Amino acid sequence: MAMTKSRIAKNLRRIQERVVEACAKARREPAEVSIVAVTKTADLETVKTMIDLGLRDLGESRAQQLIRRAEEVHGWLTRRRGEAIGDVRWHMIGHVQRNKVRQVLPAATVIHSVDSLRLAEEINARAEGGGRTVDMLLQVNCSQESQKFGCAVGAAPHLAELICTLRHVRLIGLMTMAELTDDAEKARPAFALLREMFEEMRHQGVGGDDFRHLSMGMSQDYAVAVEEGATILRIGSALLQ
Ligand SMILES: *Cc1c(COP(=O)(O)O)cnc(C)c1O
Repeated sequence: MAMTKSRIAKNLRRIQERVVEACAKARREPAEVSIVAVTKTADLETVKTMIDLGLRDLGESRAQQLIRRAEEVHGWLTRRRGEAIGDVRWHMIGHVQRNKVRQVLPAATVIHSVDSLRLAEEINARAEGGGRTVDMLLQVNCSQESQKFGCAVGAAPHLAELICTLRHVRLIGLMTMAELTDDAEKARPAFALLREMFEEMRHQGVGGDDFRHLSMGMSQDYAVAVEEGATILRIGSALLQ
């Protein structure tokens, strides 16, 4: 069932208010924090409504769905091109298999979920073939016991350095997923750990000026993530409730 525009707008306002509150607490600027609207459970009509509300960064966690969605939305935007809606950027936020990279790349602007050198090398090779440079984040497993994906905390700095030697990718930051619980405070240690790693790596000069994003925080825990320094929130269900 498609959701009404006013309902999604109300959800979005509530999220933006909480982001502003969390920024005030942490003495940060709300403009530093952007939202990737995760569309994995939304139908196409709802995705269009989200775009109409000004959400331009959209996220999908499965390759096939991202590819299909990007095509559908592109077709829709093309038919409406007189209205100057502008471009939509698709973020791949879920695990990517190397054999899907070739198909995913033309549709994805940013890949949040790079967790191995082999995957980064595959993206680099395909990006070179396509004549572009791809923005990516290194996914780190900051809550060891509960998450399947992401590189180990101890491996991240070296892996980041190796990724930075690839010429057709740009390492723009780190990403993590916290343990899924009802208690947002339980996510705080994982977010704080990612921020500490990020600061240390920046101090070491990893990635230069491009390396400036922390992709962390979902519907349950985005306020805590903002307090801990998130610059990109990945939010699905809180927009669609
Ligand atoms: C689904 C998903 C999200 C969004 O989750 P919500 O709880 O619906 O906000 C964020 N990040 C990743 C990697 C996801 O798969």
